[in-house]
Amino acid sequence: METIRQIAIYGKGGIGKSTTTQNLTAGLAELGRSVMVVGCDPKADSTRLLLGGLAQKTTLDTLREIGEQVELTSILKEGFKGIKCVESGGPEPGVGCAGRGIITAINLLERLGAYTDDLDYVFYDVLGDVVCGGFAMPIREGKAKEIYIVASGEMMALYAANNIAKGIRKFATKGGVRLGGIICNSRNVDRENEVLRAFAQELGTQLIYFVPRDNIVQQAEIRRKTVIEYKTDAPQSREYRALAQAIEENTNFVIPQPMTQERLEAILVEFGIMDLVESYRI
Ligand code: ADP
Ligand code: MG
Repeated sequence: METIRQIAIYGKGGIGKSTTTQNLTAGLAELGRSVMVVGCDPKADSTRLLLGGLAQKTTLDTLREIGEQVELTSILKEGFKGIKCVESGGPEPGVGCAGRGIITAINLLERLGAYTDDLDYVFYDVLGDVVCGGFAMPIREGKAKEIYIVASGEMMALYAANNIAKGIRKFATKGGVRLGGIICNSRNVDRENEVLRAFAQELGTQLIYFVPRDNIVQQAEIRRKTVIEYKTDAPQSREYRALAQAIEENTNFVIPQPMTQERLEAILVEFGIMDLVESYRI
């Protein structure tokens, strides 16, 4: 029996995790892979492009409404090419731990038998500039053994990526979780490819793919579709397919070596992302 590849996608809010995850899983589905996507962001927009017009209630909301007799079909809906879609949901902003929905959703998915043997991949699309509390749930105890960080050449994205690497390292030394690479979701920053390569190398990992910025992403989004579904022959669709292929073929898995603030800032200065005199702290 093949084991399921369980993959967590981390990155700063707004960096493009959900867009990238949905497009790359659409690419994997085209290759005939069986995929489940678990949205782990209280925003609950991790699967809307895969589901098109379908309304998906979050697992937390469904539990609140139906209670413990909830069935798998009410929290899991099939989208593009049979991709299984789940949204954990979260408490209202400011009420309780934002990561609690993730714990609840994963436990419930397990109890209801969602992790079937026919699955090739489970992707967790996880919000967060840091990996802690409920947001660490997908990688705690090695549930997801493989992680990718989405970043860009912007300063805050790189700060967040380094902080995420710190969290991963903490869990990696205890369990079997490994970093598979950095995915650049381009913001058209000068020398972006170069800076991401240097950044990845410093962490001891690789830049697994460079996804260009393209307005077709917005055009598809308006129609609630992945680019792959909206314009299957578009150059951007080919990029997402190539990303899917790179992940499928990846064999480079490491425990990252996060940078000190000083080292990170030195790189940012070297690539002109940060001014020499400026010392930026978050
Ligand atoms: P996250 O899930 O990390 O919060 P999203 O995937 O929701 O981020 O992306 C934020 C916005 O950025 C989306 O509305 C999307 O339209 C846009 N976006 C993401 N990737 C690209 C890209 N490669 N080219 C153009 N726009 C993009
Ligand atoms: Mg998102």
